[in-house]
Amino acid sequence: MGRYRDWVNLELLAAELADEPPYRARQVWAWAARGASGYDEMTDLPSPLRAALAERVPFSTLTVEDEARSSDGTVKVLFRTADEHPVEAVLMRFRDGRRSVCVSSQSGCPLTCTFCATGQMRFRRNLTASEILDQALHFRRVEPIDHCVFMGMGEPMLNIDEVIAAARRLPDLGVTHRRTTVSTVGWLPGLRRFVDEVEEPVRLALSLHAAEPALRSELMPVNDRYPLPDVVAECRRYFELRRRKVFVEYVMLAGVNDRVEQARSLAELLDPQVFKVNLIPYNPTGAFTGSSPKAIAAFEAELRRRGLPTTVRLTRGRDIAAACGQLAAAS
Ligand code: SF4
Repeated sequence: MGRYRDWVNLELLAAELADEPPYRARQVWAWAARGASGYDEMTDLPSPLRAALAERVPFSTLTVEDEARSSDGTVKVLFRTADEHPVEAVLMRFRDGRRSVCVSSQSGCPLTCTFCATGQMRFRRNLTASEILDQALHFRRVEPIDHCVFMGMGEPMLNIDEVIAAARRLPDLGVTHRRTTVSTVGWLPGLRRFVDEVEEPVRLALSLHAAEPALRSELMPVNDRYPLPDVVAECRRYFELRRRKVFVEYVMLAGVNDRVEQARSLAELLDPQVFKVNLIPYNPTGAFTGSSPKAIAAFEAELRRRGLPTTVRLTRGRDIAAACGQLAAAS
């Protein structure tokens, strides 16, 4: 990973400002985090310094390659890193005013979940903290943002150092830790570090998708390496340390994981004191079909009947292929 470090905006910036007073780097970052679109807006910096920075430190580590806008206000952007790898991020606008950014932590993903467009792409590399933050900053330049989910391309726990570094800076952009969620498919080494090291109230989500071991392994090969009971136990440890419930993400696939008896298995696995379930209508990416609204409602009713707090996610950006990896896969 070392050679990519040269392009990290924040590190390059620190090197460029080495002879300046220490508050200069903070000034530049504060402007960027508030949505400045270039160094020329940073009026409290001497103009020769602004010019030098503009020449030597790229303002973003990413360039925009494509953008898709949904009729529901969702915006999806395909970026390229300086070494030409695809990165996707999505801005979701909700009626209650929330503005949530979904960021990628890797370009591609090595984990090959069968229902996921990113999993079908070639894995490129981990993103740096600056590349993660630049996705959120892109949208912050357009409008205020207040939520961030690490649910785009990649498994965040495989890139835990950069994910933690990025999450720690998000409050400067207007996204508090309580409104930041890091999602995992259950990559235990990274999850353990997340639980041990992140003392800030950043939220945790577990992509679960099937309670039965054989089916889960079929959908998510990571299950063979880190069995679900161990992952659930680690989520419980997070709850015991932080007193925050863990969100369970469960994508609804017709005829695969959406039967009422499968809802019962899920309810048996999950302690309602620790977990909340979020059922996700599927954005089709090829191999699977999404469950019908009727099947989703029956599944939800069964979970609730068994005391498990459950919601159904609003579908966003369906007309622009907003599921992670869909835009990059089509380009
Ligand atoms: S669901 Fe997440 S972990 Fe699985 S292949 Fe897609 S990006 Fe990777």
